[in-house]
Amino acid sequence: MILNDYQCTECDSIQEHWSKDNITQCKVCNSTALKIQAGGHFALPGTDTSFPTAADKWARRHRKANHAELKELGIPT
Ligand SMILES: [Zn+2]
Repeated sequence: MILNDYQCTECDSIQEHWSKDNITQCKVCNSTALKIQAGGHFALPGTDTSFPTAADKWARRHRKANHAELKELGIPT
């Protein structure tokens, strides 16, 4: 067993549980608590994680701005 951080889906309380499961029971309200993945980033099962990030937006805008230049270099835009 390992100590993991879980966040409750109902009351948002963050708590530690000695469990390797992705889901556990909230100590506060007995609702479902989901494991918080290492790195502080977590997604609910089935959640689309491919939505654009700020970095992607910047890259797209940057590429658009340099469209003529990229075309000269033969890079598809
Ligand atoms: Zn709770």
